[in-house]
Amino acid sequence: VAAAAVVIHRKVKKSGMWVKAMEILKEFEEKCGTPIPRLRQVADAMIVEMHAGLASEGGSKLKMLISYVDNLPTGDEKGLFYALDLGGTNFRVIRVQLGGKRKGIVNQQFEEVSIPPSLMTGTSDALFDYIAAALAKFIAQEGPEFKLNPGRQRELGFTFSFPVMQSSIASGTLLKWTKGFSIDDAVHQDVVAELSKALERQGLDMRIAALVNDTVGTLAGGRHHNNNVVAAVILGTGSNAAYVERVHAIPKWHGLLPKSGEMVINMEWGNFRSSHLPLTEYDHELDAESLNPGEQIYEKVISGMYLGEIVRRVLCRMAEEAAFFGDTVPPKLKKPFVLGTPVMSAMHRDTSPDLKMVASNLKDVLEISNTSLKMRKVIVELCNIVATRGARLSAAGVLGILKKMGRDTIKDREKQKTVIAMDGGLYEHYSEYRNCLENTLNELLGEEVAQTITIEHSNDGSGIGAALLAASHSQYLEIYES
Ligand code: BGC
Ligand code: MG
Repeated sequence: VAAAAVVIHRKVKKSGMWVKAMEILKEFEEKCGTPIPRLRQVADAMIVEMHAGLASEGGSKLKMLISYVDNLPTGDEKGLFYALDLGGTNFRVIRVQLGGKRKGIVNQQFEEVSIPPSLMTGTSDALFDYIAAALAKFIAQEGPEFKLNPGRQRELGFTFSFPVMQSSIASGTLLKWTKGFSIDDAVHQDVVAELSKALERQGLDMRIAALVNDTVGTLAGGRHHNNNVVAAVILGTGSNAAYVERVHAIPKWHGLLPKSGEMVINMEWGNFRSSHLPLTEYDHELDAESLNPGEQIYEKVISGMYLGEIVRRVLCRMAEEAAFFGDTVPPKLKKPFVLGTPVMSAMHRDTSPDLKMVASNLKDVLEISNTSLKMRKVIVELCNIVATRGARLSAAGVLGILKKMGRDTIKDREKQKTVIAMDGGLYEHYSEYRNCLENTLNELLGEEVAQTITIEHSNDGSGIGAALLAASHSQYLEIYES
């Protein structure tokens, strides 16, 4: 009798815990809600901030940075150009041979190098020396199929994916670090000067012809093969967008009116925040414990660096307060950032009847075994809540840009075509996120308008785009000769 009572007691306790866990999940789900009217409020709040950021420097949390790119690639660029793409956990060095007169890229090569984590929080010199050394090695290994005109200096487009206040196409100071980077002595420094000095230390004779954000590079790379590209969005470790603005709509621009009448704006939308964003206690805690508290709030709910971490935080609460994984909290689960977004996405995608991908990821990554199917379903649901909120909020951001550009309505049914170049690991590899973003955008726009808008995956266009911009800002004029 006593033994039976113990068993019953355990069962009651267990079911009580399950109820508690479901309460935590339900409450989280409710707070993450993104009904269509709320998404429209987010889009409209984004537009208000866009106007404020364009009106004056420091006018908004949205920096709306002037890129000094007032001319996008045409396809006529010619010659050998280089790019260096830095912004995530890897960087790339690239060379492209441009054929001139619509021939486009005739040859290209790249190499990817991972950045040792210690360099992301070290010193400016250490980071730039490491990058310059990789570039020097890349150049030393150049084959004869790449041809630099005799007597010419090599020219480089530098894609630097952090907020930079530019003072020309090839200079600008770092406003702050984002994502996993935090190198104090680089803040407020001219990143082009820092890289140039490092190149010199390597004995490399190279001119940095263009400094661009990855969104601006992606926009340039996209425009190169599709004339209808007017905006670019990055959804990767971090998130951001750039678009083509009319100079007349940029009150803070006091420079000359460019021939095109246009200027590419790097929004730095990751720093957007609004009372309309559905934020939870988990988001506030994540932010408070992050490398950049109070900053990049929108980025922290939509981008790849953070989605898995949000899932981990909710699971941790369920483990602590509802004994979701048994009497003790699995030690690994307590470690910030152990649950990366790629793992989250692999679990989310699992459609096998017994959710064996979920089981194996829990075991391999979190050292949690013996989960029931019911528990695994809850975990998939949790991934779905976090990804859905992120994807729908990023769709709202895209709507904001389209509205600002006046492309959310149809003016010319025949001719109107809008293409948005998108890139980033999150967009590329997390198909549930990508599909949700695209479906939500279509829903927000309505069928008729949605048909005029295309999202194009620009595979690593940011580096190529920087090389193209280096070409159009070359010190040698003959690049436009055919
Ligand atoms: C940076 C942006 C960048 C984006 C995507 C953000 O954290 O602030 O400059 O474009 O990440 O890489
Ligand atoms: Mg990138």
